[in-house]
Amino acid sequence: MPVICICCRMLALVLVFLLLVAGCKKASTQEEQNEKSAVVAPISPTVAPTPMHEAVAPPPLPPPIDRTARVMVLCYHRFEDRPKDRLAIAPAEFKKQMQQLKDSGIEVISMENFLAWHRSEKSIPAKSAIITIDDGYVSGYDVAWPILKEFGYPFTMFVYTNYINIGGKSISWAQLGEMRDAGVNIESHTVSHKDLRRAPKGQDYNTWLHNELYGSKQILEDKLGIKVVALAFPYGTYNENVRKTATAAGYEALFTVYGQHMGIDAPADRLGRYAVESIHPNVFKSAIEFDSSGGKAPGVESVQLAATSMVTEPMNEERISNTRPTVKANVASMGAIEPNSLEMRISGYGVVPATYDPQTKLITYTFTQNLVPRNYTVILSAKANGKRLETRWNFTVDLTTGDKQADTQGS
Ligand SMILES: [Zn+2]
Repeated sequence: MPVICICCRMLALVLVFLLLVAGCKKASTQEEQNEKSAVVAPISPTVAPTPMHEAVAPPPLPPPIDRTARVMVLCYHRFEDRPKDRLAIAPAEFKKQMQQLKDSGIEVISMENFLAWHRSEKSIPAKSAIITIDDGYVSGYDVAWPILKEFGYPFTMFVYTNYINIGGKSISWAQLGEMRDAGVNIESHTVSHKDLRRAPKGQDYNTWLHNELYGSKQILEDKLGIKVVALAFPYGTYNENVRKTATAAGYEALFTVYGQHMGIDAPADRLGRYAVESIHPNVFKSAIEFDSSGGKAPGVESVQLAATSMVTEPMNEERISNTRPTVKANVASMGAIEPNSLEMRISGYGVVPATYDPQTKLITYTFTQNLVPRNYTVILSAKANGKRLETRWNFTVDLTTGDKQADTQGS
């Protein structure tokens, strides 16, 4: 039996030990690698079908468009220290409202961004607002603008061309030019600021309407070197013919005065605005309450009628072809009414089971049977401060009107 010396045995043990250690190390390195690849591997197929080491970053996706965002439009006129009529608001009150927008998490966006969102090209914040100032009073330039600058809010001036540069309270072309240079958006409010549904006495309606819509756009574009894309109907009133002519004239957005929170699908040819008036503080309150309207009423019709700031659907004197219309009114301008006292009557039907939402101030009734073609009167009555208030308007169901699609859109 060969004798193996103790040194050799020790050497052999050391060698075996070293081999074991090396093996363990190798195994653990393998494990580490396995672990590493286990972390990375599941990601690679979703990132790119190529092997990991060749993975290329995918092209950046455009930011997603928030289709659930909602927007409301505020409409102002004049800014005066002691407001004497419904078109004026005190600068301090205006400033307070601008701050309230901020405090309520509402972001003021430009007309341009709103339209881009409406075309599904761009996103806007979930609660957005557009500020518009109508008519072309100089107080828009020297009172409102400095306040809006402080907040960094974009805004739109809807001016009617007959009122520019005529002195008094009117804004001048030079002032408008200065605003344009600073990025203020300037859009059309017609030439003469007359109700677009009927021509002034002795004038041919179509010729007159054409000039109000095409002419005002042209004048603003020529004088200021801008592109006019929006129109605000004087008094918020229009009819189907007015809408069609305005769209043909190249306006991308048409604004009424029916205050509402609008979704991305709101019809661009009748976008609602909250007419903010110092004598109706409730209007601004409803405007900033995004959560109460639930965005359920995009694109409803509007009008100012007997009670001039009440807005209704169908509008006063509107002809509709829909025989089962939804009759709707915003009663905010009636003041603090007693909800249970509110009543809607329709000629030929008596009191109808209308529903009232105290938060949005909307009273709504949808006919469940077809109306025969004729004129209908809607009478709203309610109690406020112990007094009975009543307001009325009328509409006509006329099957020859056509445009059934558009008439039913809002309901
Ligand atoms: Zn106006």
